[in-house]
Amino acid sequence: MTQKINNPTSGPSPPAGRQVFKGFPGAPGIAVGRAFVFVARTPFVRARTIDSSKINEEKERFHAALAETREELIGLKERASSMVGNTLAQIFDAQILILSDPAIESSVEKEITEKHTAAEVAFDRAVRKTLAKLAASPAAYLRRMSHEIDAVSTRVLNRLLGLPTLGLSDLDKPAILVASILTPSEVIGLKKENVLGIISEAGGQTSHTTLLAKSLNIPAIVGVTGAVAKIPNGTSLVVDGYSGSIYLNPDTVTLDLYNRKRRESITLWSKRYEGLRDLAAVTSDGREIDLYANIDMADEAENVVAAGAGGVGLYRTEYLFLRQGRFPTENEQYKIYRRVARTLAPRPLIIRTFDLGGDKYFAEPHAAVEENPALGWRAIRVSLQKKAPFKAQLRALLRAAVNADIRVMFPMIISVDEVREAMMLLDEARRELGTRGRQVGDVQVGVMIETPASVWIADSLAGMVDFFSIGTNDLTQYTTAVDRGNPRVAHLFRHFHPAVLQAINVTLKCAQRHTIRIGICGEIASEPRALPLLIGMGVTQLSVHPSIVPRSKAIIRKLVYQDARGMAAEVLACASATEVEQKLNSYYRDHFRYRKA
Ligand code: PEP
Ligand code: MG
Repeated sequence: MTQKINNPTSGPSPPAGRQVFKGFPGAPGIAVGRAFVFVARTPFVRARTIDSSKINEEKERFHAALAETREELIGLKERASSMVGNTLAQIFDAQILILSDPAIESSVEKEITEKHTAAEVAFDRAVRKTLAKLAASPAAYLRRMSHEIDAVSTRVLNRLLGLPTLGLSDLDKPAILVASILTPSEVIGLKKENVLGIISEAGGQTSHTTLLAKSLNIPAIVGVTGAVAKIPNGTSLVVDGYSGSIYLNPDTVTLDLYNRKRRESITLWSKRYEGLRDLAAVTSDGREIDLYANIDMADEAENVVAAGAGGVGLYRTEYLFLRQGRFPTENEQYKIYRRVARTLAPRPLIIRTFDLGGDKYFAEPHAAVEENPALGWRAIRVSLQKKAPFKAQLRALLRAAVNADIRVMFPMIISVDEVREAMMLLDEARRELGTRGRQVGDVQVGVMIETPASVWIADSLAGMVDFFSIGTNDLTQYTTAVDRGNPRVAHLFRHFHPAVLQAINVTLKCAQRHTIRIGICGEIASEPRALPLLIGMGVTQLSVHPSIVPRSKAIIRKLVYQDARGMAAEVLACASATEVEQKLNSYYRDHFRYRKA
């Protein structure tokens, strides 16, 4: 009998005519609730003059609005600081500073005095003039600053007009968050219990905000053009994070359907794949696969074990920084790594050193805004310059590795020099602990293959390390020059692009020649269609989101490796991503027929 593997993206078709928007599925799951639209909308300001006897009163009204807004921002900064730490809270400093701009203040006072213009009108004009100048600036950081000015001026205008201003801090009861853009730090600062789902205009399927939503188990849809303008605050919504569909004001049939799907999706994996937990991830013709899981937070280690994964293939430690807005101390990290390792034991734990920067906001006070953060001060580049916190991390994981299978992995490597230097610092960390009389464990060392440069020098890298881990999210971004977080090019972000597959293949062959371990921890590994291809290509270690482990295991156990090899050879000869996908779809349909739930 053919074993049927349920595809969670399928299900009963919703009633026609109810589907309003389509985005890209970001994080799986169903959310049903009311919209909380988070974008300070610029209010409409009607031209208005005041009586000449009211000039002083009007100026006072203007200054009071500035002072109240300043107070409001200081309050928000304090709140952000207690939730995510001081560094991230400094975002508010820029906004507070804008309120004291003397050019805007004097321009408003002049208009009120000379033309008897109402305060909100004069202020709106002054701000628009500044914004126009910034918008025309060739410097990206100045153009970006216009968002800050816009956000602050909206708060001031709302005060002058007596309108409420919505902010993330106002999300104080469960709702579906609709936003134009959300940063990872904003997501991490949210009260999880109040966020039923996320809809964002920005973001791609492998942007870090999206991956974080997945880790927090918040259904998310990204790249929804015009969501903020089209979804009124408080609207009843259904978010289908599997298909990327959003239903506005759903009728009772749609609501019932999705409430049922939501209940099912929660129990789906636990029930359907219960029996798989303790079984090995082995193909039906006996090829053993190390099926690991990716985690963003320490608490997820329990889910990894519950899901039946063989270990953690990627622990994104940078979220320790993003949560607190500062580098965690050696001792703090030691305790966390030891707890995770103990939860997993005897399974391995691959700790990736801080991968800050890029779309994982990392700014130091007074640092210039980067024109191209994805190509800028990111990942290992930050660690090699910020040696003290990097070494504290290395010492912490060396200590935690005593009697535990902890491996260390360096992100976004482009040269042998970086690996040499990182390993030198690892040695130094080891020596420092020795001087202190501390015990250290043995750690295997690996590098992430995420850049074309690392693929081209894989032969040299393989001679230096114990393992490779291919990060296909960044590898796709850098190989195809497609920003992984930009919704305008989300359709071009394809990890089935032949160039990406060739890069994986070259790296794989190289690791095999050097007999070092190699795994894949990018999102491609979580795609059911990709499993027969990757395993057919020779991959023996995959790391996926914990919730994906049971389904992946079911696919692996049904797969015939020898058969998949032939298919992989054909796929590697394809010239386009579309051709690859067609082949994978038909292979998946023929071998893993899934049941419409
Ligand atoms: C990747 O780039 O594929 C990867 C796993 O790392 P991250 O998604 O954290 O950049
Ligand atoms: Mg990466």
